[in-house]
Amino acid sequence: MTDTIPIPPPAERGSSTLSFLNPAAPEPWASFVEQIDRVTPYLGGLARWAETMKRPKRMMVVDVPIIRDDGSVAHYEGYRVQHNLSRGPGKGGTRYHPAVNLNEVMALAGWMTVKNAALNLPYGGAKGGVRIDPHLHSQGELERVTRRYTSEIGAFIGPDRDIPAPDVGTNEQTMAWMMDTYAMNTGVTATGVVTGKPIPLGGSLGRHEATGRGVFLAAREAGRHRGIDPRGARVAVQGFGNVGGMAARMFFEAGSRVIALQDHSATLYRDAGIDVHAALAHVAAHGRLEGFEGAETIGDDDYWQLPMDFFVPAALEGQLVAERARKLQARIVVEGANGPTTPAADDILQERGILVVPDVLANAGGVAVSYFEWVQDFSSFFWTEEEINQRLERIMVGAFDSIWKLAAERKTSLRTATFIVACQRVLAAREQRGLYP
Ligand code: GLU
Repeated sequence: MTDTIPIPPPAERGSSTLSFLNPAAPEPWASFVEQIDRVTPYLGGLARWAETMKRPKRMMVVDVPIIRDDGSVAHYEGYRVQHNLSRGPGKGGTRYHPAVNLNEVMALAGWMTVKNAALNLPYGGAKGGVRIDPHLHSQGELERVTRRYTSEIGAFIGPDRDIPAPDVGTNEQTMAWMMDTYAMNTGVTATGVVTGKPIPLGGSLGRHEATGRGVFLAAREAGRHRGIDPRGARVAVQGFGNVGGMAARMFFEAGSRVIALQDHSATLYRDAGIDVHAALAHVAAHGRLEGFEGAETIGDDDYWQLPMDFFVPAALEGQLVAERARKLQARIVVEGANGPTTPAADDILQERGILVVPDVLANAGGVAVSYFEWVQDFSSFFWTEEEINQRLERIMVGAFDSIWKLAAERKTSLRTATFIVACQRVLAAREQRGLYP
């Protein structure tokens, strides 16, 4: 027996609370470890190295103190986990959320390793976060938090070390501050240290929309195999931020009936289909779905039982728990969020014949265009939006096709097939590089 990181048992306690901070969901890292255990029997000789995936290579927990606008001193906990660096530098977003903790960042970093390898991007996997509610802070305070956090993890990031990006609670402005702080600290204007930057700072056209666009492309491909055309399909989306909002818009523009939307403030329903452009305009003006008049408010229980073709969870982890998986009346689940479905819920969905396009494939469009941004920054040559969207489509459809075929051959879920492809790539690199010293 080797030492193992203490992992809480993958308890499956169903819940139907609306809260995105679902206290009944299992710890994300336990879900990730269970997903690795499930794929290990398919890895042949590489299974010998599988433990690598259960041990993040490097984890940082840093203190982030700032002077608040009222003159008081406040401390926040910051994290950066480099889960795996076998195939390239670390890569993954930075989350600002009041419930972020090390367990969550470990899981999110692990999913980045799998996602990057599944798309064959030349990266390992990493993730970061600060335990802070960005909605409760001024821009000045957020800037100070971001600059101090970036300085604290500064020795471990860089264009060829680890490349942060936006995630829940962060955006282009956050990335601009991170890039500038890194540049000031190192004396080098290295735009490739972060992706998801504003366009004038070496950001990429299409990056802002890329995750949602990729979610739609994954849904379209899954629908093609199941004989469901997005045009006219009934769609519900959970989460209406960058990912859920853009995915809903893509479905809407493709002629789908977006029958339900949910965010932290409201659950909305309209059988004839919600005008997603109007809902986006409402959120741009008010910061939340609550108060949007183009749909009726329904209860959380009703939301989880609506008949639909596509369900897109695009909020936080642990939303689709066993109890909800038993009720869900969807034909295809397309995971826009990271880790929205617990392993127990995954089994129930599979038994019920509901196809799940896993996060590590479905939401990989964001990091795919981050990769394009990083390449453009290195070459200082920028592509058109059309070129970017074409390449995104090619990479998403190519990965979807090969994973679909593998799942059919090995008779596994799409999640397990994606993990097979990814773990084979990561662990083959691990084996070929060998252990140092
Ligand atoms: N935060 C996004 C994700 O979870 C994007 C990461 C990136 O672009 O590096 O995939």
